[in-house]
Amino acid sequence: MRLPLIHHPGYTFDWPERHPFPMAKFRALRQRLSALGFDDDPVIEWIAPTPPTSPQLLRAHTPEYLQIFYLGDSDPKARQRSGFPWSPALVERTLLEVGGTLATLEAALNTGLACNTAGGTHHAYPDAASGYCLLNDLAVAAHEAMAVYGVRKILIIDCDVHQGDGTAYAFRHDPRVFTFSIHGAQNFPFTKRQSDLDVALPRGTGNAAYMSALAQHLPSLFEQVRPELVLYDAGADVHSGDRLGHFELDDAGMTQRETYVLEQCLAAGVPTAAVIGGGYDRDLAALADRHARLHCVARSLWLSRFD
Ligand SMILES: [Zn+2]
Repeated sequence: MRLPLIHHPGYTFDWPERHPFPMAKFRALRQRLSALGFDDDPVIEWIAPTPPTSPQLLRAHTPEYLQIFYLGDSDPKARQRSGFPWSPALVERTLLEVGGTLATLEAALNTGLACNTAGGTHHAYPDAASGYCLLNDLAVAAHEAMAVYGVRKILIIDCDVHQGDGTAYAFRHDPRVFTFSIHGAQNFPFTKRQSDLDVALPRGTGNAAYMSALAQHLPSLFEQVRPELVLYDAGADVHSGDRLGHFELDDAGMTQRETYVLEQCLAAGVPTAAVIGGGYDRDLAALADRHARLHCVARSLWLSRFD
């Protein structure tokens, strides 16, 4: 059995170069994985996703909002909420990204572990875009898992440096989905939503403090929640080099985190679908390397599983 990695060339499209969101990072990540030997690797199965159907989106988003998503908002103020200039091409790539997380979910349920090379758009609300997030792929995937695959309990592990407010809000009344967010206290979103468990850490948090906070909570969460599925948001914006992060994890710290989280999931025998989350750096090579740590760790753990 091979480790499924999900990618579509359409994750990246023509984008204003000065825009603070590094749209080219998905292509850069794919190239980084090629450079690391992932193309002809007998262990890796590359899967190209298709866009989701409307019913898949309607489980997580309101019809009114989906209409605005597809067609663009006539109110310029509302349009600014995503932080993105709306275009039909943006709609198309966003759909591919959500389709990617759905493909990651399906693959994870089949094999035990799968990783997207995009995804983690956790700020999007059922009825609104926010913070570079138009659709909430984690919410769409969680609904899909429950409605189509009969998953009864989901643990969302959100390690992006920003709080997963959209996801927390979406499942605030749903006991089937446990939302866990470990994030920067003084960072976007400035109005936090209550997750089932929030761990807010101060500016300047480094490897040791971060890992100790994670180790304090994650093992007991597996015991408490007893998930049948994990959705893991491996945001790379916890890195010291990130422009929007304010944390001080270094490369080794990132690898340590991915190893710890994925080991916990595999040890508990819980199928895990991972997405890359946030990461903001003008240096695309450095950024791609940070995101690729998720896939490298997944690959090593996959190999050690069959030793
Ligand atoms: Zn983030």
